Parts: sequence; structure tokens; C-alpha cells
Amino acid sequence: MHSEINLNAVCIQPVGTPLSLQHNVQVEVLRLDLLHPVISGNKWFKLRYYLEDAQKNHHSRLLTFGGAYSNHIVASAYAAKLYQFQITGVIRGEEPVTWSHTLREAKALGMQLHFLSRSKYNLYKRNADTVLIKDKFGKGYIIPEGGIGPQGVKGIADWLRTLPLSKYTVLATAVGTGTTLAGLVEAANVNQQVIGFSAMKNNYALSGEIETLLNRSLPGAVSLIHDYHFGGYAKFDARLISWMNEFYATTQLPLDFVYTGKMMFGIFDLIAKGFFAKGSKILAIHTGGLQGNASLPPGTLTI
Ligand SMILES: *Cc1c(COP(=O)(O)O)cnc(C)c1O
Repeated sequence: MHSEINLNAVCIQPVGTPLSLQHNVQVEVLRLDLLHPVISGNKWFKLRYYLEDAQKNHHSRLLTFGGAYSNHIVASAYAAKLYQFQITGVIRGEEPVTWSHTLREAKALGMQLHFLSRSKYNLYKRNADTVLIKDKFGKGYIIPEGGIGPQGVKGIADWLRTLPLSKYTVLATAVGTGTTLAGLVEAANVNQQVIGFSAMKNNYALSGEIETLLNRSLPGAVSLIHDYHFGGYAKFDARLISWMNEFYATTQLPLDFVYTGKMMFGIFDLIAKGFFAKGSKILAIHTGGLQGNASLPPGTLTI
């Protein structure tokens, strides 16, 4: 199970449905989920420059932050193993009675886990570079929560620039911290519509945070959509699940319920509402995260 990252496994897959055909909108999916079974999707690209930097500066331990269901936590745990670092994961919230699949996997990969109450977590996360954290957890190279930061943006943008993005009129991604969206904005040309689907409820601070990451204001062709959170981060309802199952039956494309399922639901809902001009060519980034589906009750998804 200790496999390398396989950039050659990534492909672009058309996912036509009767609805998209009827509206004369083409949808293709960049399958970053195929990179690796554990370090899936965008997480690898966000991590890679941090890992190189840590190596260059001769660190032996990494330290990072995330929630109990964080794909970033598992991806970092695996990447640390691959690059022969030790790694500490600071987890948001008190230790749960039953550990999530994510936490069990991170621990099995050798990550040392520390649980912090939400208030302490937020304090430490914000002061990640300070003495505070070094006192508490010892020396280590800090990778910010979710890989947010200029290195994360550069990791995404540099790789996206190697792809034929310019043949699409619309580029779409799911959004957590906004690091991936920022990388997409950097790689896109000015005429391309760039759409981010927020996985969180009413996270209106996002656009400002993305502007901070980019160090400029968001171009007019970029929009953040807040209408498809389904109750909030990692929340879902029967409508989302049955849509995802139906989508899988039609396209054979597996989605996760936290990010890519909501993005894809949003894209097809917007197609149905006539949001995209006829003839639009959409590239949707499959940012991975399929491991998160393991936290659903068995049988919920038929993928
Ligand atoms: C982490 C994650 C995202 C969010 O990426 P950001 O760069 O934090 O916005 C989107 N999709 C999946 C599957 C993820 O795991």
C-alpha cells in the first residue's frame, strides 16, 4: 500500500449527461483523484513545495493542523511517510470516543496526534510560527492547516499550467481554504470564468482570504458560490446522496460527499438553470477526497 504518486494516472474525462447535452454545455473532469489512493487530488500539489522546503532545510519533523475528517491530515501523514519525515498532527476538537476513519488511518501511517479544544486549536493555528507552538509541540516544520499559503497556491498553479486549460471557457473547483481556487486563478487566463463552490456554510470571509493568498483582488471573472453547502461542512441530506448515486450510475465517476459531490451537484444545477452560456466548455477539478466517504454509514453511497 506504500505507493508513489502517479502523475500519469491523471486524466481528463468527459461526463455528459442528458441534461448537459440538452443545454449544449460540455463538462469534463480533471481526475486528480486518480493520483494516489491516499494522498488524493489537490492535497499532493498543495503539499509538495512545503515538503521540498522542509527537506532543503533539514527538518526531520513536520507539524500540521486539521479536523477529524480532514483529507489534508491523512494526505500529510502519508506524504511524511513517503518523504521519511516524522509528523505531528494537531487535531481540532477534543478526542472523540470513536475515532474517524481519517484519524485511524493517519495514526496507522505513523502520525502523532494531539487533540485540542476548538478555542485552543484556533489560537495555536493562528500562531503557528510562534514560540507558543514550539513550546508545546517541539521543533518542527509547520505546514499550515489545509496547506493554505503561497507554497500551496504555487504547487497547484505550477501543475495546472502544464495542462491544456485554455480550451475551456469555465474552470470549476470545490473550495475549503481557497488555496486550490487561488492556484486555479493564477493558472487561468483573464477571459476564463473561474467558479469556486464553497463546502462551508456562509463562509463569506473566503473571498478576502483568497485575495490575501493571491496578494491582489479577485478578477471579475472569478465567482464564489455559497448555495451548495447542504447544511454546512461535511453535512449532507437525502437529496445530495440520491443525486450522487444517480450521477454515478450515469457517468461511473465517483465523488465524495464533502467537496466534489457538492461542486458537481452545483454545476449541474446551474446548467439546469441556464447559468452557463450555450457552447460553454467546463473543466471541473476532481480534487479527490474519496476516503472521506468511509465515514458515511455503509450503503449510503452506491459507488
Ligand atoms: C481539501 C479539499 C478541498 C479544498 O481545497 P482548498 O484548497 O482547501 O480549498 C477540495 N476538495 C477536496 C476533495 C479536498 O480534500
